[in-house]
Formats: sequence, structure tokens, C-alpha cells
Amino acid sequence: MSPIALEPPIVDIQNSTSEFDQYVMNTYARFPIALVRGAGCRVWDSTGKEYLDFVAGIATCTLGHAHPAMVKAVTEQIQTLHHVSNLFYLPAQGELAKWLVQNSCADKAFFCNSGAEANEGAIKLARKYAHVKLGIEDPLILTANASFHGRTLATITATGQPKYQKNFTPLVSGFDYVPYNDIAALEAAVAKYEGRLCAVMLEALQGEGGVRPGDRAYFQRVREICDQKNILLILDEVQVGMGRSGKLWGYENLGIEPDIFTSAKGLGGGIPIGAMMCKSSCDLFEPGDHASTFGGNPFACTVALAVCKTLTDEDLVTNAKERGEQLQKGLRAIAQDYPDLIEQVRGWGLIEGLVLAESAALTSRDVVQACIDRGLMLVPAGPKVVRFVPPLIVSAEEIDQAIATIAASLASLNS
Ligand SMILES: *Cc1c(COP(=O)(O)O)cnc(C)c1O
Repeated sequence: MSPIALEPPIVDIQNSTSEFDQYVMNTYARFPIALVRGAGCRVWDSTGKEYLDFVAGIATCTLGHAHPAMVKAVTEQIQTLHHVSNLFYLPAQGELAKWLVQNSCADKAFFCNSGAEANEGAIKLARKYAHVKLGIEDPLILTANASFHGRTLATITATGQPKYQKNFTPLVSGFDYVPYNDIAALEAAVAKYEGRLCAVMLEALQGEGGVRPGDRAYFQRVREICDQKNILLILDEVQVGMGRSGKLWGYENLGIEPDIFTSAKGLGGGIPIGAMMCKSSCDLFEPGDHASTFGGNPFACTVALAVCKTLTDEDLVTNAKERGEQLQKGLRAIAQDYPDLIEQVRGWGLIEGLVLAESAALTSRDVVQACIDRGLMLVPAGPKVVRFVPPLIVSAEEIDQAIATIAASLASLNS
């Protein structure tokens, strides 16, 4: 067997991007950079240029790149058993479910492959709850404006942003939207849909919608209303969960517990896996109700379990909290230098947003491009928010380096 090549191939970027575009559908506004290698919080492109990776596969590479715990889990499990079927008992899936249940408010887990698929499961479970527990024939789920729940038909419908729905009608029926963090609007919608409403589905912190943290008083009142009306509170933890917020789950920042929550991005550290978690009170699926061929296979579950255990072993949730405070402080200091350009810095732990003023000529993409030019990978969260979502293993030195790079980038853009 030949050894695994660790040195990346030299790729001609001009050739490789035009050939790429010839064969791959045009679904992303890609930066003209071909990434070929990663280690820790750093990635390298095909020309050998190094970047500090504060994108982490969009809040996904929890342990950064090539973490020994992941390398070990991947190589051992691929040599042992990678995929069979949920028709059989899969010990790794049971172990992962146990870890997630013991470390959250949920009692049961269902596994799938992505955030959208986890949310589809949550929507189906809420609808079954409506039919069999509430006797509702035409159930409705409320979601928030500016939310993001995925790209399948049901999840673009759940997503309260028309730009994701354009040209894809007819949408799925049974959804309506309320402004986020607005309790009066929610109360009005609950009254309007009395007799039809089965669930409220929210992000604890809106990620794609602009790194907007949930308001504690709002979520506590939402929880009360759901309890009074016997409806489910579903939290989409796909982006904010798995330690990123400085707590293991985003809802811990709000002092409430959901009935159902979903996880995906950070769960497998970049190996595709999603989970839909629920309390026993709504654990209603029976054989035949819901399934996923790849969902929870031994490979994905072993790697996700290694990610979970490493979060604990390396105390990465604490690191996320401390490095997040450092990052937020640094960004706030920069914001003071640009009162006309930067409106706000907001976020929890290692999901932070630098919010540009609506009146500013600059867009988030301009700032991201200037930072990428200087070796810092960032990602926009909408046209005016620059998002910082580094791996949870990020060091104090790396945070300082990122702050220095953003300062230099803003200085040059503003000159
Ligand atoms: C990314 C994201 C999703 C969709 O996840 P996919 O794995 O891309 O399907 C859903 N909800 C939230 C909050 C997300 O950030």
C-alpha cells in the first residue's frame, strides 16, 4: 500500500477554477481560492498561501483540521465497519445518543446527515404530535423572520427569508412567521392560530440571519406560552450548538429547555451528521414513520463521539467562552475607532458578528475579501454582518492575530 500523500498537489488555480465551473453547478459565489490542506486553525491554498481559518467550514470544524482525535476515529472506524443499516443495532449510534442525552435536556435522539434533514425530522415529529396528541388535522408551525433552517422544501418554507424561497414555489403549507425577539407579535400569532398551532421553531441565536442572539426574557415567555397552550418549542441548534456559544447548547444561554432540538454543523466536526433530539413527552415516532439510509452509521457516529469526548477532555466549551470574550472585546475596541462604519458587535462565545452600519458603503463581503487577502478567512452573515466562527480549539494568540488582521483590513478599506 502506498503511503498517504500529506503534501498537497500544486494546482493551477486558473485552470482548476474554469474546469470546476464547467462541471459543478453554480450554487455558490465562490472566492477564487482552491483550498488543499488544513491543520489546527489554519488552511493552505493551492499556491501555498496560509490562512487563519475563522470560517471552520461555516461553524462546522469544531476541532479544526486534522485533529488527532478525529484522525484516529476516522482511520480506525473505516477499517472496522463504516456502514451497515439501521435495520440492525449499531453500538456507536447508541453511544453517541447516550452522550447527547446525558449532556442535554433531551431523552432520545434520531440521526441523519445534515441540518436541513434534522429540521425536517423535527417538523415531521411536531406534525405527528399535532395529529395524534392534539387532534389537529391542519397543523401550523410558527418560525421567525430572518431565520435559517436549511434548503429542502420544508426548511426553506420554515426559513423566514423570502430570498431563499424565490422561484421555488409552491412552498410547503402549514408555516407562518413572526418577528424574532418580539413577544407581542408571538402572542398575537398564537391567538390567531389557536386550534391549529402545534409548534414554535426558533434559533437560540440566529446565525445566517445576522448573528442575532435570542433575548432571554423573550424565550422564557415563549416557553411559558408553549407550556400553557400545549405546543412544542423546537430549537434549531444546528449552528449555535455543540459548545460554540460558550455553553454546550445555545438554549443554556436563555435559561429554558426546548421539547425538540436539532444539531448538525459542529456535531461531527466536519464529517456529515445531523441529530434531532426530543423529550420523552413527544417521542412519538414508530417503525416506518421516519428514516435515513446513511443516518447514524458507525463511521459518522464514531467520529461525532470522538468530537463530543474531545469537547469534554480538552474543556473546549470553556475555551469557546474565554476566547469568545477575548474576540468580542477586541472587536468592540476596533468598533470604537469606526463609529460611522460599525454599528455593533454581538454574539455568544465563538459565534460573533461585526455589524456594519446600514448607511455604510461597505458590505460584509468587502470586509471579508480584505481579510482573506491578508490571510484571515471570514464569512458574511447577510450583507452587513461579518461572522467569526473559528474552531473551538482556537488559541489566544490566534484570536489576537485575527483582531490585528481585521484592524488592518478596516484601516485600508477606510483610507
Ligand atoms: C446551516 C444551518 C442549517 C442547514 O444545515 P445543512 O447541514 O446545510 O442542511 C439549518 N439551520 C441552521 C441554524 C443552520 O445554520
